[in-house]
Amino acid sequence: MDITALYRIFQKCTCVTTDSRNCPEGSLFIALKGDNFNGNAFASKALENGSAYAVVDEAGYAPTGDAHYIIVDNCLRTLQQLANFHRRQLGTRIIGITGTNGKTTTKELMSAVLSQSYHVLYTAGNLNNSIGVPLTLLRLTTEHDLAVVEMGASHPGDIKELVEIAEPDYGIITNVGKAHLEGFGSFEGVIKTKGELYDYLRRRKEGSTIFIHYDNPYLREIAYGLNQITYGSEEELYVSGRVTGNSPYLTFEWKAGKEGKTHQVQTQLIGEYNFPNALAAVTIGRFFGVEPAKIDKALAEYTPQNNRSQLKRTADNTLIIDAYNANPTSMMASISNFCKMEAAHKMLILGDMRELGKDSAEEHQKIIDYLEECHFEHVMLVGELFAATRHSYPAYADAAAVIAELQKNKPTERMILIKGSNGIKLSSVIEYL
Ligand code: ATP
Ligand code: MG
Repeated sequence: MDITALYRIFQKCTCVTTDSRNCPEGSLFIALKGDNFNGNAFASKALENGSAYAVVDEAGYAPTGDAHYIIVDNCLRTLQQLANFHRRQLGTRIIGITGTNGKTTTKELMSAVLSQSYHVLYTAGNLNNSIGVPLTLLRLTTEHDLAVVEMGASHPGDIKELVEIAEPDYGIITNVGKAHLEGFGSFEGVIKTKGELYDYLRRRKEGSTIFIHYDNPYLREIAYGLNQITYGSEEELYVSGRVTGNSPYLTFEWKAGKEGKTHQVQTQLIGEYNFPNALAAVTIGRFFGVEPAKIDKALAEYTPQNNRSQLKRTADNTLIIDAYNANPTSMMASISNFCKMEAAHKMLILGDMRELGKDSAEEHQKIIDYLEECHFEHVMLVGELFAATRHSYPAYADAAAVIAELQKNKPTERMILIKGSNGIKLSSVIEYL
């Protein structure tokens, strides 16, 4: 079936789903394949559960003559083509967002600000890959004024693929840092991949607009030929600002242009590294004409939902939990932020940073060297990669070994930073603190 015909069917459906356990009445089910499952095998279940049509790419799963089944060559490609077709039909202005760290937070902050004046569609949670991006686009309706679409990458070409589906009108790269080095080959590979967003915008139209953190030299270097709406520390920029407090919540001030009025914002975000994320949201709010008072209100009221950088007070300790992901850039940002926080007794539980390939040993050592500069008294290292560094801290094989130690010696009255790759499962130690 060609895409125009499929689009007509999509328009009759209530929504698109790829999960046979969650098929709203009248939805369009698209059968995807994963490493351990074949969605085609669940097509009949999807129809039973409420879907009006099921798109499959293995004819054997479609009973002959049953009009509820639609056979295509490749379901994932079809999902992406349908999303692109829909995006073009509606012509909604789209802001594409990528970067090594801070995509989700920036996306949420930008959406909170823009929602003050517009009807905004934005990526749910972290659905930022070759399936999540099309599913986000397929939720666009004529009601939406703007969309904010998060795009993630772990290999060269990933962003190119996603921008060709979403065709964003505006772009923002939050930052470029060290993550997924295994997949990208090198830091240069990271920059080039994130830069695929700028490349697309340059190809699309001379003078396409990007929002750029002007303090970042890597971003400045690749931003040529684009209309740059700048933010950062220098007063000449479109929006400038600085951190004014960080214990434990980020407060900052901003102003628009050299002569602008200074605004103070008290956020509910943990971590100074959220400052550029918040400033990006101010910038985009200004650009789209959201009133300054509403920008401030949106940023002051936003509370993170994604269980990253969360503050938790237990009966005995105060925890800063950032156990969902870790790469050298975000690890440094977290430790540096923690270093500056005011607390009598600090402690760190740090887990390995995975997927760093050949740079792994060196990047772990850099973290250790930095820890030593900060003179932390209590550090627990978790995982084989940290264990293999030159260090003077107690090291534990895994989260279970940390728990065993915490059960013997429970810390009290401390401020504790917990950070590591998701695979290290540091979230399991929380209940012992
Ligand atoms: P993912 O790749 O998992 O989608 P993301 O880019 O969406 O991540 P967030 O979820 O917003 O990023 O933040 C993840 C972590 O990255 C934060 O908890 C923090 O440790 C770090 N981080 C966030 N913003 C920045 C920033 N501007 N610079 C450096 N590190 C940051
Ligand atoms: Mg994210």
